Amino acid sequence: MRDPDDHYAALGVDPAATREEIREAWRFHLTAFHPDRFRDPTQRSRAEEITKAANAAWQVLGDTGRRRRYDLRRGDGDGAAPVQAPPAPRMRELPCPSCATRSRVPDAGGRVVQLACPGCGDTFPAMIGARCVGRPRLDKRWLGLRYQAVFADEEGRLSTVEFRRLPVELALTEGERLSIVFHARRARPVYAILHGAGLDLGWRVR
Ligand SMILES: [Zn+2]
Repeated sequence: MRDPDDHYAALGVDPAATREEIREAWRFHLTAFHPDRFRDPTQRSRAEEITKAANAAWQVLGDTGRRRRYDLRRGDGDGAAPVQAPPAPRMRELPCPSCATRSRVPDAGGRVVQLACPGCGDTFPAMIGARCVGRPRLDKRWLGLRYQAVFADEEGRLSTVEFRRLPVELALTEGERLSIVFHARRARPVYAILHGAGLDLGWRVR
C-alpha cells in the first residue's frame, strides 16, 4: 500500500522530477480522473480522491520552498537526499472479461499478454499499460460505425484497437495510460482501464 501522504506517489512521479514534469503529471491527473468521467458511484468517489490527492501534492511540490521542506521531512530531516526504495513493478488491476473477477498483474509496458483468470479459469489477452496516441478516429463501415484508437507500447510500437461503442466519459486523450482487456475467444475489447496514482478505473466497452 502506498503512503497516502506521499505526494510523489499521488502524481506518479519520481522524487527527482523537475517542476515542469510534476506540473504535467498534476494536469494529467486532473483531466484523466475528472470525476464527471465516471458514472459508477464507487469509481466517481475514487476519482474524487485521486484529484484531491493530486491537488494536495501540487500545492506542496509546485512551491519550491514547501517542496524543499517536504523533501527534508521525507529524508528524516537530516538534510541528506531521501533514501529511495528500489522501484517496485507497477501492478495493474484488471477484470476478467468473462466473470469480472479482478486480478493484479504487473504492467507490461503496453504489450499484449495472455492472462488466466483466478476466478473462472478463462484465459484472455490484455494489452497492459499502453499509452494512448492522439484521439480515437470515427470510421464509417458498411457494418456501421467503428472507433479506431491507437496505442503505443514502451518501445513506441503502435497498435490499433477497434471499438463499436465508447462511453462518452472514456475520452481517450493523448498520453493516457490504459489497459484493454479482450474477449476470451473473440478479438474484441471488453474493458478499458485507466491507470494513475496507483488506482485503476475501468469502463465496459464494446
Ligand atoms: Zn473469470
